[in-house]
Amino acid sequence: MSINKIWNKCFKLTVDSLRAGNLAIASVITDSNYSIISMGTNQTINNYSSFNKISNSSIAHSEINAIYNLPKKHSQRRDLILFTTVEPCPMCLGAIAMSRIRSIHIASRDTWAGSANLLKKTSYLKGKEIFVTFNNDTSIERFFLLLHVYSLFRNAKIPECHNAIQALKRVSAQIVQIALELSDSYQFTTLMKEAEHSIIKRTLEERI
Ligand SMILES: [Zn+2]
Repeated sequence: MSINKIWNKCFKLTVDSLRAGNLAIASVITDSNYSIISMGTNQTINNYSSFNKISNSSIAHSEINAIYNLPKKHSQRRDLILFTTVEPCPMCLGAIAMSRIRSIHIASRDTWAGSANLLKKTSYLKGKEIFVTFNNDTSIERFFLLLHVYSLFRNAKIPECHNAIQALKRVSAQIVQIALELSDSYQFTTLMKEAEHSIIKRTLEERI
C-alpha cells in the first residue's frame, strides 16, 4: 500500500470517528511494506460500538487504541510503523516508546499537546531510536488539521478562546478559521453526517 493510500484510510477513519461524536484523529500501524495490521481512532467522548477497545476515557486516543488493537502475533516485531493524523501527545508517545514501534509518520503538527520532541529529552527515550517523520506535504497537514480542529469545535465543544485552539493557530490560523466557519455551517454538518467519504474529501480539499 502507498503512503497516500494509508493517509486516505486514515481520512476515512477520522470521518467515522467524527460522525460517532469523537475527535477526528486516527492512527494505523503497518509493517515495513505498509500493509495495515492495526487501526485506532480517538474515542475520548463516548462509548459507541466500534473496533476500539478503549473508549469513553481520557486515555482513549487513536495511538493507544491502535497499539492495543495490535494482534499479539505482531506485537514483538521491530519493523512496525505508526501513521497518525495528529502529532502524538505525551501519553501516546510514551506508549509508542514502550511498544516495539520504531518509526512514526505524522500528518499534522499539534502545537498544543504534540510532544514528538520528548523523544530527545531523556537518555531512555533517546535509546529507543524512534524515527519521526513529519509529513512535508502542507496540503496533507492542512487537511488533517482542519478535520482535527473542526472536531474540537463540533464534538469536544471547546470555544474559540480555548488555549488549544490558540496554540493550533500557530500551525495555520487560516485553517483554524475555516474549521470555525464549517463548524457553524448547517450545510457542511449535514454533508459530514451523510455524504460519501469521497465527496467530503473533495469538499475539504476545495476549502484548504
Ligand atoms: Zn495521545
